[in-house]
Amino acid sequence: MRNLVTGGAGFLGSHLIDQLILANEEVICLDNYFTGTKKNIIKHISNPLFELIRHDVTIPIKLEVDKIWHLACPASPVHYQSNPIKTAKTSFMGTYNMLGLAKRTGAKFLMASTSEVYGDPEIHPQPESYRGNVNTFGTRACYDEGKRIAETLCFDYRRMHNVDTKIVRIFNTYGPRMLPNDGRVISNFIVNALQGKPLNIYGNGTQTRSFCYVDDLILGLIKLMDSNINTPINLGNPSEFTIKELALKIINLINPSLGFIYKELPEDDPLQRKPVIEMANKKLLWEPKISLEIGLENTIEYFKKINS
Ligand code: NAD
Ligand code: UDP
Repeated sequence: MRNLVTGGAGFLGSHLIDQLILANEEVICLDNYFTGTKKNIIKHISNPLFELIRHDVTIPIKLEVDKIWHLACPASPVHYQSNPIKTAKTSFMGTYNMLGLAKRTGAKFLMASTSEVYGDPEIHPQPESYRGNVNTFGTRACYDEGKRIAETLCFDYRRMHNVDTKIVRIFNTYGPRMLPNDGRVISNFIVNALQGKPLNIYGNGTQTRSFCYVDDLILGLIKLMDSNINTPINLGNPSEFTIKELALKIINLINPSLGFIYKELPEDDPLQRKPVIEMANKKLLWEPKISLEIGLENTIEYFKKINS
């Protein structure tokens, strides 16, 4: 089996590659290094199963592959908002080009969508049937609408060209290899706490998120690719926490004497988010196993190591 992992030098992509190589499969990692780094995949460089290509998915590419894991897209609000037009282009053109590749090669195609397709949800928790509440012109729209059109493209390639597409709506996932300057909440909190700085809570900290540890998520992606599910499916950990509860947990694990600073809530920041994972549970026999406490400890260890 030859796999193409777009965004393979990023956080999730590099963990996925580790598992594919472990299973003795061939992997082509394609990345433009916008938010990814060679450090994440350096250990595979001399492995004959592994190949690395610097390429931007907004440009077509000709490769022969059996499975396409399409993850290329910045995921942190700080990064995807730094060049919103490029983010929208990556989502649309990138998915279009990779679907074209799937059509030509007959490869199975998995697209990393997001809980952001639900926007600031009016239904809680969010099942796959919920159609979402996205602001089409806000600062998050480049990403949210980008992923929505990417989902639409997957369905149309399936209907018109019979491409075997899978769509995973990933809820907040964290773990080792997030960038220290990634801008997402868990890495921001850990990096500040390790530096003895107060944690920056945006808004009043009552907004909620549900955090999935990376190893659980990757197992779900692999099960989905091997399944016959073609409708969008949520993957995430349904344990829900307020951002203030998260801050307290991280402070208690690193340095209980630290405090918080409250900052302005970013535009369109969803107030609540929690996946319904019944479908993944029943159809993939998947559920997350790693608690927030254990996941945070592993992630803190990682950030300590890269700082030392
Ligand atoms: P990441 O930023 O670590 O990884 C994205 C990778 O894509 C990076 O290596 C980056 O360099 C690469 N990339 C970006 N634009 C590209 C382009 N035009 N051409 C080629 N490569 C490009 O983010 P991540 O957390 O690993 O997310 C991976 C995927 O999962 C993304 O599609 C993201 O939208 C989705 N997702 C992630 C989460 C999460 O919590 N981690 C949640 C929902 C969805
Ligand atoms: N957040 C925060 N402090 C930070 C970074 C983020 O309070 O340093 C908040 C952010 O406003 C949001 C939540 O944490 O309510 C999750 O943010 P993240 O960027 O990790 O993910 P997303 O908003 O895309 O779910």
